[in-house]
Amino acid sequence: MSTNKRAVPGRDDLAEIKLRRRRENLLFTHTRVAALAAEFRSHGLSDDALELYLLQLQVEQVIADEFPDEFEDLVAEWAETEARAEHHPASSSPTCGLCVAIAHDHAARTWPRAA
Ligand SMILES: [Zn+2]
Repeated sequence: MSTNKRAVPGRDDLAEIKLRRRRENLLFTHTRVAALAAEFRSHGLSDDALELYLLQLQVEQVIADEFPDEFEDLVAEWAETEARAEHHPASSSPTCGLCVAIAHDHAARTWPRAA
């Protein structure tokens, strides 16, 4: 009999793994949607920003329903992260995906430079 057998996860282990993956996916989705909503607000793209914000609220509600302790721990941090993600429309932010895309587009249009 071999002692090197890999442990086969039990039903409880699989349920825990699925729950952990769901939690991680929800938190990742929240992070991305909240960041996009802040970026769109920063660029005055109100309609898309509102749609993203409503999606963000839906994701937050699912997290609150399914992982209430985690929600309580994270909700204040989310608000701070959201506020930091926004920038003035006349300025550019290196962490804003729209600013980065605009800068790349501008660089592509102006390169090569005329001598
Ligand atoms: Zn930006």
